[in-house]
Amino acid sequence: MSRTSLSLRLFLLSVLLLVGLGTGWGFFLDRSLENELLEREDTRLLEHAQVVRVLLESSADTDLTDTELDALTDRIAQASDTRLSIIDPQGWVRGDSELTSAQLQNLEQHQGRPEIQSAMSGQLGHASRYSNTLQGEMRYLAIPVPRSGQTWVVRSSAPTARMQGALTQQRRTLFLTGLSGLALALLLSGIASWQAGSALEQVLVRTHAQALENAVRSLAQERDRFRAVLEGLDAAVVAVNPDREIAVVNSAAQRLLRLGEESIGNPLFTALPLQEVRDLLADDDDRDDDEAEVIELELPGATVVQLQATRTPKGIVLLFQDVTRLRRLESMRRDFVGNVSHELRTPVAIIRANAETLLDTAIDDGPEPTRMLVGATLRSAKRLGNLITDLLEISRIEAGKMPVRLEALTLTRTLTAIQEPMEQLSEDRGVAIETLLVPPDLKLFADPKALQTVLSNLITNGLKYTPAPGQVLLKATAGERTVRIEVHDSGPGIPTAHQERVFERFYRIDKGRSREVGGTGLGLAIVKHMVRAMNGTLGLADSTELGGACFWIELPKA
Ligand code: ADP
Repeated sequence: MSRTSLSLRLFLLSVLLLVGLGTGWGFFLDRSLENELLEREDTRLLEHAQVVRVLLESSADTDLTDTELDALTDRIAQASDTRLSIIDPQGWVRGDSELTSAQLQNLEQHQGRPEIQSAMSGQLGHASRYSNTLQGEMRYLAIPVPRSGQTWVVRSSAPTARMQGALTQQRRTLFLTGLSGLALALLLSGIASWQAGSALEQVLVRTHAQALENAVRSLAQERDRFRAVLEGLDAAVVAVNPDREIAVVNSAAQRLLRLGEESIGNPLFTALPLQEVRDLLADDDDRDDDEAEVIELELPGATVVQLQATRTPKGIVLLFQDVTRLRRLESMRRDFVGNVSHELRTPVAIIRANAETLLDTAIDDGPEPTRMLVGATLRSAKRLGNLITDLLEISRIEAGKMPVRLEALTLTRTLTAIQEPMEQLSEDRGVAIETLLVPPDLKLFADPKALQTVLSNLITNGLKYTPAPGQVLLKATAGERTVRIEVHDSGPGIPTAHQERVFERFYRIDKGRSREVGGTGLGLAIVKHMVRAMNGTLGLADSTELGGACFWIELPKA
């Protein structure tokens, strides 16, 4: 607020106060003045009436005639400019300084007048009213005069015009004095307002400056904290504004992406000409804000980074994490698992084949313990064989060495391909399989081998974990763009707490049970990888049909 407007406000406020107070005070003074003048007039009238009263009282024993009474009033009135009247106890005007005796004869009785009434009852009476007799506004004052045991009344009166004249005169003086006082007060208050305004303005300026300083300081602290966090991060952070210009670069980004401070303000794609980043940020409109997208890319110099882009209304935050070492270790682990599995495959196959041969032929007639030992060797060799197969499969998938080739498949054909082993297992386990395809000739896009693996893993699980006599239901329905395949079973189901994790490698709810049924803990991990590789989705729910588990996958419709 400027100094002028502050002073003006103060001044207007004081004007308002002064005018308000002045008017109130003037009104009060005016009333006091009027009362004072009236009192003075009444005192004067009383004095004159009292003279008449004294005379009347002193002649109490004499019976004065009307002419004498009238003469008395005339005489005393001459000495003053007051009209004097003498009223007898019956209310007849017996003497009046303004009227002749003859005129008095025609005068009406006066006891109806308020001042006369008061005096008749022994009190001082006064009134102001218009007099018909004298044709003017009059002030009347009446006093009682006890005379020969009766109450006479002496009334003195005077026109109010004189008093009004004095009042008007006084009022004018009062008004002029008030006006000049007000003008002076306004002038003084104007000066005072101006000075107070500037003093107040200085205080305000100081307060504002202080507040501004505090705000700037806390902003600076905020910025320093933000910087410290940003610089403390291992990950490279690049923030861009909605125009795709670089706004923030931390030192990790300067090192990893070779972006200098000077890149701030430059277009992102000029400073960082990476096609992957361009692609990631290209399809803006389809994405929601706050949704983080993650991709992996290789920077020049064989550095592998994971890039996470988070969109906000004010721009995009790009977070680059160097995962080169991690990926190298993963690749080493994969190679190791792959190589070991591969190396183990042949010896295990030989052990299995030998055990089978032994069991079938050589020890047919042998002792029971030997048969048991060979039987156990065969079971272990089978389990080991399964584990090796699964391990090889998963390391092939993870290494990307299992490219999927999507083609239009008829689901019944795929099922026929895995029918025999499934039926065999169904018989062994005492769990029936039922198939329901709607419509029967469903077609979908998938890799034939991968789909067989996925379905046989899911059906095998249903058969393995459902106690006999049980049931497994394979159900497939066509949606608008996808085909949904569900594998229900009447087994124990999967507790909600485990549902999220069963697709992880080696995750088993009951290790003993899994081992007992020849499980490896890798089946569902393989299913997950393969379904995703075929652009599908998958999930798990409680089966409403059979009460056990319900695994579902969705693949593109052909
Ligand atoms: P496994 O070789 O042990 O069967 P999977 O990856 O196929 O490994 O399954 C992981 C775990 O999920 C299993 O150990 C089992 O505890 C549970 N599971 C899978 N399918 C079912 C099912 N149909 N009913 C109950 N539990 C199941």
